[in-house]
Amino acid sequence: MPPHAADESARFTDLPLRPELLRVLTDLGYEEPTPIQLATIPPIIEGKDLLGQAATGTGKTAAFALPILQRLDAGRTEPEPMALVLVPTRELAMQVSQAIQKYGRELGARVVPIYGGQPIGRQLRALDEGVDVVVATPGRILDHLRRGTLSLHRLMTLVLDEADEMLDMGFAEEIDAILDATPENRQTVLFSATLPTRIDGIANRHLRNPLRIQIGASAVVPGEAPLVRQVAYVVARPYKPAALGRVLDVHAPTAALVFCRTREEVDELTETLNARGYRAEALHGGMGQEQRDRVMGRLRSGTADLLVATDVAARGLDVEHLSHVVNYNVPAAPEAYVHRIGRVGRAGREGVAITLAEPREHRMLTSIERTTGQRIAVEKVPTVADLQARRLELTRAALQE
Ligand code: AMP
Repeated sequence: MPPHAADESARFTDLPLRPELLRVLTDLGYEEPTPIQLATIPPIIEGKDLLGQAATGTGKTAAFALPILQRLDAGRTEPEPMALVLVPTRELAMQVSQAIQKYGRELGARVVPIYGGQPIGRQLRALDEGVDVVVATPGRILDHLRRGTLSLHRLMTLVLDEADEMLDMGFAEEIDAILDATPENRQTVLFSATLPTRIDGIANRHLRNPLRIQIGASAVVPGEAPLVRQVAYVVARPYKPAALGRVLDVHAPTAALVFCRTREEVDELTETLNARGYRAEALHGGMGQEQRDRVMGRLRSGTADLLVATDVAARGLDVEHLSHVVNYNVPAAPEAYVHRIGRVGRAGREGVAITLAEPREHRMLTSIERTTGQRIAVEKVPTVADLQARRLELTRAALQE
């Protein structure tokens, strides 16, 4: 454990989660629950209906997946699903189903994605074998209901994920029809990045006395966020390591703290960066004080110029001369962002905060801007030509000095 976790941090073990889930979360390197997970996991486990505002990147998938898995009976054999997750697109159906599978691997959860464009025969076989959780796009699931190839009469929980997107895609009637085919006493959980009045329409029709949870709206008072130059680059996941390299070359930080989501990501990224010739050190929540001191010493002496860490590991860290903070992912909540970038630009020095966002996470940048009242400039990932020009510039400056 971090010796000086000051401890404002909440832990997964504080949540009512079974050991099989806690073990998986540890294996995945998740160090602490995100705000949306903290707020929604207990009430969902209690069976409450819930309306949550959360965008991609906040950890919302685990926020509904863990409570579903928490209540999965060990050795359940009923063929009909106990939970159904509706999502707007096939990509999301695959992604969410993989995530639930991953979280539920020690429980042997039977998770099946159902979406249009996939041969129906395969889906029929999967459903025939029995299933605990179905993750589906509305159109295709309705087909199955109409053909009688899927029954929802054992459904305990229904999740509407990215509800605003589903409405934008014209799925309103399908959603109503699907909900009408489920038991009255089921639990309904709705997540949406935005809450237009149309969402209230669905909520009024299908949710019972829902708990409303909004993350990120609690604000940092504008003006209290530090004044730091803030830049973001939108990059698809496979290109992130390469993009980070170029961005680092252009910005040429004297000392940078690079934030990752999980311990695994910290290790992988540190390795990648070192292989590419950067001098990076990993910092873990699990490290002892002595190890931490050694790593910090290398950063202070300039033997390393990049420190790669999770939020938990970086807590209580005192680095005076950081020039850059890099978010390798958009943080799960605007507060975390503000907290991270508060580490640069101290004592009148210029600080720069760099964020790599995947295309799907664009919306989170806007939500951060709203919270901080400050703009994040979205820039193009530097090209090789940009890099050459920048190197020349740096050499010239060095020569002049
Ligand atoms: P989501 O908002 O559900 O799309 O999740 C965004 C990403 O955050 C996914 O890659 C998850 O694996 C990851 N994630 C979710 N919860 C946590 C957590 N508590 N700690 C670290 N990473 C997480």
